[in-house]
Amino acid sequence: MKKVSIVVSAYNEEGNIAALYKELDKELKKVSDTAFEILFVDDGSKDKTLAEVKKLQKKDKRVKIVQLKRNFGHEIAMTAGMDYAKGDAVIFMDADLQHPPVYIPQMVKAWQNGSEIVLTKRVDNVATSGFYKFCAKSFYWILNMLSETKIPASMPDFRLIDRKYVDFLKGFNEQDRLFRGLLSWIMPNDKVTVIDFVAPERFSGKTKYNFIKSLQLAINSITQFSVRPLHLATYLGLAGGALSGLLALYVVVERYIRHNPTPGYATIVAAVGLIGAVQLVTLGIIGEYIGKIHMEVKKRPLYLADYIEADDKNKKEKK
Ligand code: UDP
Ligand code: MG
Repeated sequence: MKKVSIVVSAYNEEGNIAALYKELDKELKKVSDTAFEILFVDDGSKDKTLAEVKKLQKKDKRVKIVQLKRNFGHEIAMTAGMDYAKGDAVIFMDADLQHPPVYIPQMVKAWQNGSEIVLTKRVDNVATSGFYKFCAKSFYWILNMLSETKIPASMPDFRLIDRKYVDFLKGFNEQDRLFRGLLSWIMPNDKVTVIDFVAPERFSGKTKYNFIKSLQLAINSITQFSVRPLHLATYLGLAGGALSGLLALYVVVERYIRHNPTPGYATIVAAVGLIGAVQLVTLGIIGEYIGKIHMEVKKRPLYLADYIEADDKNKKEKK
């Protein structure tokens, strides 16, 4: 019998674990011809998330736990889950019930019918404001304009991936990673199914992404998938240079040809300001990339985790 791993990343989700499990269990019963493992990745939670998951493991041997030793962030949590998942396909989902388990039978069916990647598309998100939706839309527009790898908007991390592509994804070793970007990079033209869904409100707790964290993710996503901002630095420099040249020409013409003395300070301030701004922007962009190189060349392990199975005999450490 084929097996599907369900990877749930959870950071401070104590109020959601029991409710999510109940829903999952109900939906998995509807798929009789497939075995499941439910792999909870506890991303260094400070609340009772781990205790809640361990409670589930006592009554259900399908529950496996990857306990990250501190908070590594959602993308690394999904990576850790993927590394430990043993299934012939892996379903990724959030712990807060914003990725409703009711779609899982449909996802598995599509996979059984030959799809190798089953994506979900959020047609609406009842939890988010108009402002957030506008920001998200603008972000994807900028990202896709700058990046060679196109990343579709409204495609959450709720998806099924066949073992073949899971193994491809495991070949990406970068520290700084955006799963949906990596997935776009390997996305085949065929055997992909998309299922529409409406994301409900979070069942319990608050979102882990504030404005600053979202902005960081946005900048990271752009630098990971594109070097076009570096070209932008060059263009800015060229444009600034051209403007300053024009200004200099104007001053020369006024002074030596038309014999009109121009007020000196205004031009100096304008020119210095412009050049300064261009240099700072350019340096900033270069700095972003050098910072990334600095982090990546160290080739540090991505995470530190314990793997816990029901009988606890297989508890082992992995970098
Ligand atoms: N998450 C995680 N590590 C983190 C932040 C979030 O594993 O450092 C998990 C979180 O528990 C949830 C999922 O990632 O299951 C999505 O997070 P959240 O619901 O806060 O994001 P939103 O849905 O608001 O975009
Ligand atoms: Mg959420």
